[in-house]
Amino acid sequence: MRLHPPRHRLHRTLAALAPALILVLAGCTADGDDTTATTGATPAPSDPAPAVRPDLSGSRPNIIFIFTDDHAPHAISAYGSVINDTPNIDRLADEGVLFRRSYCANSICGPSRANILTGLHSHANGFMQNGNTFDGTQQTFPQLLQRAGYQTAIIGKWHLNSDPIGFDHWAILPGQGQYYNPDFIFPDGRRRIEGYCTDVTTDMALAWLETGRDTDKPFVLMCQHKAPHRAWMPGPEELNLYDGQTIPEPDTLFDDYAGRGPALPDNEMEIDRHMSFGYDLMCPVDDDEWLMNAYRNNMNRMTETQRAAWDAAYNDENDAFRGQMEGMSEEDIVRWKYQRYIKNYLRCVAGVDRNVGRVLDWLDRHPDIAANTIVIYSSDQGFYLGDHGWYDKRWMYEESFAMPLIVRWPGHIPAGVESNELVQNIDYAPTFLDLAGTAPDTPMHGTSLVPLLEGDAELPGRDALYYHYYESRATHRVAAHYGVATDNYKLIHYYEPEWDYWELFDRQQDPDELTSVYDDPAYADVQLRLYQRLQALREEFGNSIGGRDHPDLGKVFGLSNARWVEGGWVLTSNTDGAFAVQPLDAPADTLTVTCTVQSERADGIRNGLIALSDDNGKTAIRAGAYIGANEYVVLGPDGEPIAKMTITEEDTATSYDLRVEVADGVLTLTANGSRIRANLPAGFGPVTHAGYGLNNTRTRFTGLTVEAGE
Ligand code: CA
Repeated sequence: MRLHPPRHRLHRTLAALAPALILVLAGCTADGDDTTATTGATPAPSDPAPAVRPDLSGSRPNIIFIFTDDHAPHAISAYGSVINDTPNIDRLADEGVLFRRSYCANSICGPSRANILTGLHSHANGFMQNGNTFDGTQQTFPQLLQRAGYQTAIIGKWHLNSDPIGFDHWAILPGQGQYYNPDFIFPDGRRRIEGYCTDVTTDMALAWLETGRDTDKPFVLMCQHKAPHRAWMPGPEELNLYDGQTIPEPDTLFDDYAGRGPALPDNEMEIDRHMSFGYDLMCPVDDDEWLMNAYRNNMNRMTETQRAAWDAAYNDENDAFRGQMEGMSEEDIVRWKYQRYIKNYLRCVAGVDRNVGRVLDWLDRHPDIAANTIVIYSSDQGFYLGDHGWYDKRWMYEESFAMPLIVRWPGHIPAGVESNELVQNIDYAPTFLDLAGTAPDTPMHGTSLVPLLEGDAELPGRDALYYHYYESRATHRVAAHYGVATDNYKLIHYYEPEWDYWELFDRQQDPDELTSVYDDPAYADVQLRLYQRLQALREEFGNSIGGRDHPDLGKVFGLSNARWVEGGWVLTSNTDGAFAVQPLDAPADTLTVTCTVQSERADGIRNGLIALSDDNGKTAIRAGAYIGANEYVVLGPDGEPIAKMTITEEDTATSYDLRVEVADGVLTLTANGSRIRANLPAGFGPVTHAGYGLNNTRTRFTGLTVEAGE
């Protein structure tokens, strides 16, 4: 994490926070005791506050987790929105840490919720797409917090099909829920609650805080709104917001999908082609739209008073549009649809922001509780706000891959600062457990963000994020894909047979991700580095779905660059043990591999080897020439020599014809006519992959042949 002073925000240093940090070290109880803490925390005025690192692990704060649905960071002013203001969410940022590079693991409602509850990627928690049923008996943070003495509650959108497990108190919306007079499911049944959903959800959350909880225990309260999910129906208080204004359009509203792969034009989430006037925009223009059940159900839920306010807000504008629609250009209709869509979306967001303010006001009125309560704002993924011409989410492109994350705990964590470290929703569960001073029974994929909240700049080992979207061929037709994101780059693989292509984006040069540089030779090293990082993450998380070898080199490990030059591969590695191996047609106990290797480096570090793998390309035996050391070698899977032969200085060359034969458990290497043999390690074989090997150098490989059998 790099702590940057955010735009127009007061930057406080960690040292200035030291008094408050001592409060944390003094220990916290559920509802706090600020008298003692304040007394013990004040340093002598002449004594500059030491840069005491806070210890938030096990500090056991209350956690209020305010979570919305489809709220993109670029519709939050603290994240730099140019289309709206969110003063209450901004207040959280002013008083806490805003995570600038916060992302989801699978950009869709239910899966993101399952990622958060389990700290696991989707394939491991079993909830890979909407419509799955969440197995709530698996390890989740609410259950672990209960065991650690927390009281747990969830109110609002759940969307995981099964009933909540691990919650002392729950009231959830069925499915997507309704904006007006929503039904809620309680442990004892289903009831309709009159009011606007965002207000009702907050009412119920505040009621639980006031009278529902056990004040002797720390608590986690998940207050989860439906808003601003489709179909965007603003509440009575926000119906006339933005009237008479024109909201700026995104630069990519009329994206033509050039520069990226063929799955894009196949989408069904365009404002132009797919967004309906009735259900989506509340302005039916033909009988089908007037009669559509989903539209009528939304409208018919309103009370007479609510409906009168709604009609007063929309009817004139709707009539005017219907009257002029015939004469409008296609582009102007898209522009009208965008304005209606974005205004309703932002009105829903404004309702969320107002209700975030209600929670903060409640905490202001209960300073003893506020002192010990961490407040988090997040949403299940980002959303396309006309970006690329779209609504909805799903793609790994930035607008829906990103999700907001703002954390406030005044006096305990930095205020008004931003973190630029890569964080993901699988990190939330480990963070909550860390704060509570407990640990998962079985490992989670995510990492606790507590070190970042304590002021660390970076999370150890966090240089990249893994993403995988599975819900192919469902609503909106977004092809399944997985990918890896680093600080500056993003590599995406659309792996289904009908697509099967890759995209690479340089986000510094191309922040809107309009031009894939996957095939640009200038990015060959970046492409390979990201590919290998991606494969390592897939290995680490045990995700083989959609797996496929590198399109040109097969299984690769440890390469820093690969270029196809004049009929051969020029491979570079910065590590020992690098290799690139292609799968054989069938596993073989007997085979012959030939290749010519040529050093591309003038210094002593020159080698080129043939690589053979028997474990699906995870390790390799390599045999060839070590030119600087004047040796022919056979290296075992651990990189140590299992046979070698010294060659005389005058016999060394810059180019070697290598031939490796495997038969009867013996490997025979012939290099420029010289020959050595090695017994294959016990258990090695049959050979499944063959290709190139090198160590810390750059080598040119040409003419690889593989012949299986006698
Ligand atoms: Ca969502």
